[in-house]
Amino acid sequence: MAENELNDCIFCKIAAKQIPSKSVYEDDDVIAFHDINPAAPVHLLIVPKEHIPTLADCDEKHSALLGKMMLLASRLAQEQGIGYVANGEGVGTGGFRTQFNVGPAGGQEVYHIHLHVYGGPRPWRGFR
Ligand code: AMP
Ligand code: ZN
Repeated sequence: MAENELNDCIFCKIAAKQIPSKSVYEDDDVIAFHDINPAAPVHLLIVPKEHIPTLADCDEKHSALLGKMMLLASRLAQEQGIGYVANGEGVGTGGFRTQFNVGPAGGQEVYHIHLHVYGGPRPWRGFR
């Protein structure tokens, strides 16, 4: 990755603490924070620290990272009060939605892969 491309990437800058975010989780591989323009009462972004432009740039070597992001979505949803328990009554507001936007037709605006996590009482902007 060219250095200037990294320097221009807003999510690389957030991961490097060059610009602030409302962080809810961080480890060596990923950071998670509240979306600055939330489409739902709770709207998180789970972002790998590695600069990967889109889901379409991933291959088998990213399997563990992608799996970790999905599992983290469920864990953070639980922590944020929007989780779901499949074998019971449900908790919080009864569930959440995860989403990768991929490419222009997929509505991707930031070309550093990120997993959206939405939840909380409806309505949500742009969702049924
Ligand atoms: P996407 O359309 O999937 O690329 O989504 C990009 C998301 O990043 C949008 O929901 C934006 O609101 C969000 N976003 C952009 N800049 C920031 C920022 N500095 N901090 C938090 N979220 C951001
Ligand atoms: Zn980046």
